[in-house]
Amino acid sequence: MKPLIYDIRLEALKKWLEENGEKSFRAGQIYDWLYVKRVSSFEEMSNLSKAFREKLAASFEIRGLDLITKQVSADGTIKFLFSLHDGHAIETVIMRHNYGNSVCVTTQVGCRIGCTFCASTLGGLKRNLTAGEIVSQVLMAQKALDEDDERVSHVVVMGIGEPFENFEALLDFLYIINNDKGLNIGQRHITVSTSGIVPKIYQWADDMNQFNLAISLHAPNTELRSRLMPINRGFPLKDLLEACRYYVNKTGRRITFEYGLFGGVNDSVAHANELADLIGDINCHVNLIPVNYVPERDYVRTPREDIFEFHRTLQKRGINATIRREHGSDIAAACGQLRAQHAKEAAR
Ligand code: SF4
Repeated sequence: MKPLIYDIRLEALKKWLEENGEKSFRAGQIYDWLYVKRVSSFEEMSNLSKAFREKLAASFEIRGLDLITKQVSADGTIKFLFSLHDGHAIETVIMRHNYGNSVCVTTQVGCRIGCTFCASTLGGLKRNLTAGEIVSQVLMAQKALDEDDERVSHVVVMGIGEPFENFEALLDFLYIINNDKGLNIGQRHITVSTSGIVPKIYQWADDMNQFNLAISLHAPNTELRSRLMPINRGFPLKDLLEACRYYVNKTGRRITFEYGLFGGVNDSVAHANELADLIGDINCHVNLIPVNYVPERDYVRTPREDIFEFHRTLQKRGINATIRREHGSDIAAACGQLRAQHAKEAAR
């Protein structure tokens, strides 16, 4: 199978051009057609000769993702379900903020991490996405925003999958969307979230220190975290926090901890205090995520007052924390829900 043209970093494209008897500056022209003019076929690249366009078409696919469903929320959130060339379905979400539009992308079809609150892991991991399949999600979101003359200003790698388990494709994806000849999304406007693959956090701190890092923490002690996230048995909380401290010291940057609030599980004032004890020495921001009821799982939503109480407790302890605004609560907004619905319908 031919690779997607969106899989290719600019430097790699230049090299390919040279190896194929073409001028390397054509790479910039191709990037302009793909990411600035956003054409959908090689034929539209009108400043390239016909023979050259045919050569490109013989070597690369330009096919994007096929739209299965699109849901638009009253608050402007747009949720897409796309089909890949092999029939797998993936989700992508556009969220509107006062500071811009962020796109949440998926990096894997399914996931093998097994977080007990997550519907996306129920069928295990089917396969990794290629860099181009992740890039295509941002591009499709940008094409949707083009209708309103708006742009994708931020990207969060927090959709289905563990991005650090698809590391090479993740790096290619980040370099491609950050390239100023392409979508030109600033490194500090891109956040990658991990469930806690400790060795990769060290690598991230050393090599990718201008991109934001978020950790799915979800528990204030190792026993509870192991119950919620089996990955904690392989990479225990103590080692995870050591890696987070390394990241903060090495980069001088703040790290984000995501903390999903699950009714009656991890959402008491005692848990908030335990969390403050745990991370109080780390330059961090805690993103509290009130979790909606997920039909496939047993967790229930934390009552509104308890969410505020948890937040107040952290703030009183000097921890920088916010409660995540809900996006698209009138559509299937929780991660994996749209895909799960689609799978059920397909099975009927
Ligand atoms: S929450 Fe993320 S890392 Fe955990 S199982 Fe779901 S997709 Fe995988």
